Amino acid sequence: MSSPTPQRRIVWQHPQAPAKPNFGADCNGCGLCCLAEPCPLGLLATRRQHGACALLRWSESQQRYVCGAISDAPSDWLGRLRQRLAVRWIAAGKGCDADWEDERD
Ligand code: SF4
Ligand code: SF4
Repeated sequence: MSSPTPQRRIVWQHPQAPAKPNFGADCNGCGLCCLAEPCPLGLLATRRQHGACALLRWSESQQRYVCGAISDAPSDWLGRLRQRLAVRWIAAGKGCDADWEDERD
């Protein structure tokens, strides 16, 4: 029985974005997971199933990608609730959960 052929996907990443860390290492905001496809939160919020998540933002000051569902939330109680839910839903602050390799060109 042959092993499945690895799939390749090409995404445009900001030239200053950090390289993807190993699976399970601290997330460094390379953005590749969100550039490849939206997570369940992005899917629900943007109604787009394919391509880069429309909520993904490049932070010039932090030199990394950030999730707009968190960074763009208003500072009122509803915005804070949205941030808390988003952080829990996308498991922000946990290790990198993208189990694939990054090939830069
Ligand atoms: S979870 Fe991994 S692939 Fe996604 S932004 Fe963080 S480091 Fe990059
Ligand atoms: S973490 Fe944020 S930016 Fe990334 S796919 Fe999910 S909603 Fe979009």
